[in-house]
Amino acid sequence: MQQHIPFMNAAMEEARKAEALLEVPIGAVVVWNDTIIGRGHNLRETTRDPLAHAELIAIKQASEHLGAWRLLDCRLYVTLEPCPMCAGAIVQSRIPQVIYGTTDPKAGCAGTLMNLLQEERFNHRVDVISGVLQEECSSMLTQFFRRLRGKA
Ligand SMILES: [Zn+2]
Repeated sequence: MQQHIPFMNAAMEEARKAEALLEVPIGAVVVWNDTIIGRGHNLRETTRDPLAHAELIAIKQASEHLGAWRLLDCRLYVTLEPCPMCAGAIVQSRIPQVIYGTTDPKAGCAGTLMNLLQEERFNHRVDVISGVLQEECSSMLTQFFRRLRGKA
């Protein structure tokens, strides 16, 4: 568990970049040989792109870095449980391990609503660790929405 904390902190740093842009604070990093090779934060509003999720941006960058679509020997860290789209991309990029901070009761597809990462019928299954810096990841989101409501 301890080894995951610095990388989850890096994902939280990404989430803060989203927050600074008034985006929902979600961040992700892809790690290969203990080196971060992909970073992403939610940019849905800024880019007006429904695909601009933190995980997809980090995966794209990692693939470019490795020059491969298969992210073998990589780990993906994300502050919030992946949605169906991102869980799909994780399976498609063959990432072996995903570590996420807090669960998403509205869209989580890594065990909460569904578990696309460990679906027996798919040709790839992902090792999942949840709850790394859970409190921190969760409170960043609740505080963001609280401030948003306060302003409205
Ligand atoms: Zn997503």
